[in-house]
Amino acid sequence: MESFWSCGSVDKNKAMVKNLQNYGVIKSRKVVEIMEKIDRGLFVQSGTPAYIDSPMQIGYNATISAPHMHATCLELLVDHLQPGMRVLDVGSGTGYLTACFAMMVGPQGRAVGVEHIPELIAFSIENISKSAASTLLKEGYLSVHVSDGRLGWADLAPYDAIHVGAAAPDIPEPLLSQLKPGGRMVIPVGTLFQDLKVVDKKLDGSVNIQSETSVRYVPLTSRDAQLRS
Ligand code: SAH
Repeated sequence: MESFWSCGSVDKNKAMVKNLQNYGVIKSRKVVEIMEKIDRGLFVQSGTPAYIDSPMQIGYNATISAPHMHATCLELLVDHLQPGMRVLDVGSGTGYLTACFAMMVGPQGRAVGVEHIPELIAFSIENISKSAASTLLKEGYLSVHVSDGRLGWADLAPYDAIHVGAAAPDIPEPLLSQLKPGGRMVIPVGTLFQDLKVVDKKLDGSVNIQSETSVRYVPLTSRDAQLRS
């Protein structure tokens, strides 16, 4: 039974995507295509159920987000993930969303993941290398780095899209300044109670922030605080 749920399987991945469509979480053709191409089963530890709609432990007090949260964030960012665009994934964890982003922006674009646990960076490289995004990784259009994500990743800024996979007490200033005018950031904000915020930077540089939904993410914090918790 365990292997039924835990082995990477294109068919089970497709069924998961179909369910998310039926529930109205996935609305766009592009998000269907990408979630079908990137098999979630390749991004969890063996023995972990990959396709049920729940977050899963990945060690180091971190989780892979639930499929409906990945789908929600992809939907919110879809217009800012067109071929040739630049995207930053903060708290990239397993590398699942970084791989999805890289496939969407393609070899004309750049996808960067930042994660502060070195072992998770190594895990994400292993995972991505097994996935449909492996060539993009090999050729350098997708990269992941061990760093404090609260600082963003200045080298490739500004970004059309920024995704933050851990909840910050406030929106970190460096992330806001690394967002391109016309770009969008999706970030969970709060401590005990959190909202998924959609931050749009307009062409004149002004910022519009909306709350999308209540969420529960692990905190965007220091490595020491995370490993102690
Ligand atoms: N999107 C990832 C989410 C992983 S959970 C996935 O679905 O696989 C959130 C991640 O944020 C964890 O891996 C955690 O280690 C990381 N994280 C938390 N604070 C961080 C920080 N300050 N800098 C970089 N990564 C951070």
